[in-house]
This record gives sequence, structure tokens and C-alpha cells, in this order.
Amino acid sequence: MAVSYDYDLVVVGAGSGGVRLARMSAQRGARVAIVESRYLGGTCVNVGCVPKKLFFYGSHVREDVQDAAGYGWSVPDDQVQFDWPKLVANKNAEIERLNRIYGRLLETAGVTIIRGTATLADDHTVVVGAQKLTSEHITVATGSWPVIPDIPGRECILSSNEMFYLPQLPRQAVIWGGGYIAVEFAGILAGLGVETTLLYRGDLFLRGFDDDIRTFTAQEMRKKGIDVRFGVTIEAVQATDAHYEVFLSDGSRMSTGLVMAATGRRALIDGLGLENLGVKTTGSGYVDADAHFQTSVPSITALGDVIGTPQLTPVALAQGMVLARRLFGDGHGEMDYTAIPTAVFCQPSIGTVGLTEAEARESHGRLRIYRSDFKPMKHTLSGRDERSLMKLVVEDSTDRVLGIHMVGPESGEIIQGLAVAVKAGATKAHFDSTLGIHPTSAEEFVTMREAVEVP
Ligand code: NDP
Repeated sequence: MAVSYDYDLVVVGAGSGGVRLARMSAQRGARVAIVESRYLGGTCVNVGCVPKKLFFYGSHVREDVQDAAGYGWSVPDDQVQFDWPKLVANKNAEIERLNRIYGRLLETAGVTIIRGTATLADDHTVVVGAQKLTSEHITVATGSWPVIPDIPGRECILSSNEMFYLPQLPRQAVIWGGGYIAVEFAGILAGLGVETTLLYRGDLFLRGFDDDIRTFTAQEMRKKGIDVRFGVTIEAVQATDAHYEVFLSDGSRMSTGLVMAATGRRALIDGLGLENLGVKTTGSGYVDADAHFQTSVPSITALGDVIGTPQLTPVALAQGMVLARRLFGDGHGEMDYTAIPTAVFCQPSIGTVGLTEAEARESHGRLRIYRSDFKPMKHTLSGRDERSLMKLVVEDSTDRVLGIHMVGPESGEIIQGLAVAVKAGATKAHFDSTLGIHPTSAEEFVTMREAVEVP
């Protein structure tokens, strides 16, 4: 006799991936419940992409006001006021609006929302407080959480989570790390007038990005007054009455109003009880799931940040769609992790898709590299000393464009469109035969004719 369960699917975690999976599964006729202990929308909506982008916009206004002078606008410095609590309050109101939308989307799709902390009691049972939910399938979509290295004074160090709710801005801040979050917050704080230092342990931050992009970004961030330091890390932090003393690996120390760690994120699986069910994890602590999101327990799948695939909202959303189809559709569907476009909202921002030059050399051999480094037109009149960089990585034998990289305003917007060309296998000849849109920065991508390197 077939076992009967309360649900066809219980999703644990209502972040980007979990919500998409729950909605798509319910729309395919499944009986679905989603369990969430914190906030609907997960990291992206609450303490990630969305509030970060709002802060990014907010922090750029200061430069826009300064740049206005070259265009004939006089905005006296002493009349420019910035109100941090107001930005945070407006941001919070927007996040609450999005939380409600997420709730409505789930309810409209027929998903039961259960608030509370979930534990997996057995292969088919999720317990939330006094509630016991049985389900044919269970998906773990609990996301990730910031890691702060265990050093003396760790309790004085903030993560990005708290940065979104700071009661007031400090005069000075130290940011520890050299990945996405570190460079984005360094830009936000510096833009808002905070004296900002970024400390990275390696020779050059943004590991994994194209080397030209990394070097160029460091140079542009320094021009904006950010104290970017490489080859140094934090060994200890000590709180005094009014500030923090930061002890560095080079023997020096500095005094600051805030220390933020952006030193990576780990899978958030505490208290789920996965180990009791034999759900395997990887050496780095992620849930071990195969290409079809299957864990070592047949009824349990997992997706999103928790499985260690690229920690990006569009990846989790796509995974949710694929898994819904596999569980409640025709049983097919694959993720394609190649050429994932991404943007880093540092200032100026980075946009990138496809292979870096170093990756392409390793996998494709002989390349043609096209590079353009120029002053954006806006800054001819603003007088700002900011430059943009654009780079194409082309396979010499096939003429295929393998990678596109950019640092400059609206990088994300520009690269999103070009990512379609990379996915479609466009060649440099396709780029050459495409007319530019004049005058734009993006037209550089179709007007670069001379390879700067053909090694
Ligand atoms: P990242 O993994 O991108 O970067 C972590 C940084 O911290 C690296 O520079 C790393 O150095 C450094 N680090 C790690 N451990 C230590 C340590 N013990 N001591 C000193 N430094 C250390 O993590 P983030 O926290 O910046 O972001 C997490 C993820 O979230 C990103 O990878 C990205 O996928 C996603 N994200 C995406 C955004 C976007 O799409 N715009 C924005 C923000 C986040 P090293 O390189 O030497 O290992």
C-alpha cells in the first residue's frame, strides 16, 4: 500500500532558490509547504543583493553631485546633507514590501508557509516546533551565512548582515577580505564619506576574476580614496571606549570606528539534523548534492548556496526551476553552469562573463586579447579622474569570444546583453559586424579592432 504523506514537497528555507522551487512545484500541482525561520526572500532580499544595490545607488549620489559642477550646476558642499538613518529606513520599507510580495506569491501559488525552525526527524518528516510535516520529498534550501575568522576580538567584528542595520555611520572603517562583499562595501562606505581601509591577505584581491580587471579595480578604488592594502591580514581586534584597535599581520596597528569581515560564507545547516539521517556533507561543509540536487538520502534534495555551487541568486533561481521539473514535471532538466554572467557592485563596477584570460590560456591555447582603457565621456566635463576598462578574450583558431570583462559604470547592464552573445557562441567577426550605439561606452566592445596581445 502506498504511504500517504501530508505534502508532496517540504522546502526548508524561503530564499531565492527555495521560494522558486516551492512556487514552481505548486504550479505543477504538487502539495507544497515551505518552512522559514527568519525572513521571506532569504539573503538576497534581506541582507544581500537588494539592499546592497540600494546602498550602492545611495553612495554614488555624492559623486554625482560633485560631477554636476562641470555641467553648470552649483551645489555648494555645505548644502549637501546625507542622512544615514533615513537611507536605512527607506531601504527597510522597501525590503518589507518585497517580503510581503514573496508571501503573496507563495500563497497565490498555493504553497503553505510555515514560520519556525525546521529539523529533519527522518527521511520524510520535518518538525517545526510542535508541528510534524510528512512529505514524499524534502528539499534543503537553507542558504549560507557569513564566516568571521576566529581571532581574538572576533566579537567586535561585524558581518555584512549587521552592516545593513547600522544605527550610525562611523568616521572610519576597516574591511577585511578581498571578495565581492569586501569591495562592494568598501565602495559604499567610501562613497558615503567614511574613511575606508580594505585589507586583503593575498597579493591582489578578487581572486578568480581576470587579472587585468583585478589590477584596474584596485587602481580605481585607490583613486577614490580607499586605502586598499594587500599582503596583510587582521590578527586581533580590541575594543576601547571610543573605537577599535586593529592589530595587523605586518606588526602595525590601526584605530577605527568599525571592523567588518567579508571573509566568505559557509553552508547554513546548523540544527537541521542532517547528520542523523546520513545526509553527507563535503569537506567544506556544504550539503553534498549531485548534478540533479540529489543528496545521499533518496527523498532529500538540496539546492542554492547550501550545496556550494556559485553563490548567486540567478543560479539558485535556475536550480529551483530545474528541480521542480525533475520532481513534478517530465523528470528532465539540467543546470548549465558555463558562462554565468556576474557583476560586482564596487565603484566603478565590474561585469564579467566567460573565461578569464588565464583560464582561456590554460584550456584553449592561443588567444587574441582586445583591451580598451579610456575615460568615459561623462568625465570629460565632470573632470573626474575615473577610467573604464573593457576586454575581450578570443580563441585565435575559431575566432570565438570566450570571455568579456569590464570595469566601469553600468557594467552589469552591459555584460548582461553580451552574455547572450557568449552563450550563443559569437565570434569576434560577429562583434566586428555589429554596429555600435554612439556615443556609449558599450560601443567599445564592437569597435576594438587591433589585438593587443597574440602570444
Ligand atoms: P568571497 O568568497 O567572494 O571572498 C572571501 C574573501 O575573504 C576572499 O578574498 C578570501 O581570500 C578572504 N578570506 C577568506 N578567509 C579568510 C581568512 N581566514 N582570513 C583573511 N581573509 C580571508 O566571499 P564574500 O564573503 O565576499 O561573498 C560570498 C559570496 O557571495 C561570493 O562569492 C558571491 O558568490 C556572493 N556575492 C555575490 C554578489 C554579487 O553577485 N554582486 C555580491 C556579494 C556576494 P582568498 O581569495 O585569499 O581566499
